Amino acid sequence: MTKQTAYEKPIPLKTLDNHEYWDAADRHELKLQKCAECSSFIHPPGPACPTCGSPETEWELLGSDISATVYSYIVSYRPFLPGFQHELPTVITVAALDAAPDVKIMANIIGCDPADVEIGVPLKMTWVDVTDDRALPQWMLARK
Ligand SMILES: [Zn+2]
Repeated sequence: MTKQTAYEKPIPLKTLDNHEYWDAADRHELKLQKCAECSSFIHPPGPACPTCGSPETEWELLGSDISATVYSYIVSYRPFLPGFQHELPTVITVAALDAAPDVKIMANIIGCDPADVEIGVPLKMTWVDVTDDRALPQWMLARK
């Protein structure tokens, strides 16, 4: 496995609310916070359910085979954050999970021609190892 030693981009901080999400990402899995009261998924993770206000939350492991569709996207030709200047243009999407379309996960679509991206295009989640112990979820165009 290839590891980058000088990763320049920001690495998301783990917090009390989100560490289950990022710990799962480090294992190349998607785990979503869910309300124990009304069963709504909560993403991004937080201290309470935005649907019903309950602070009783639990976590559901969705595994490593995650499909979604492009809900919205932009193609960025300038780096908004350090480290992205080497990978322009960057395709940033908000993707709706096939298993839970109300859940939208924002990440880059990597390894694609921006001309191939449009709303409704199928995606697969992939994880990029950015340090020895951190991995970030990203999207790839799904092969048909
Ligand atoms: Zn709820």
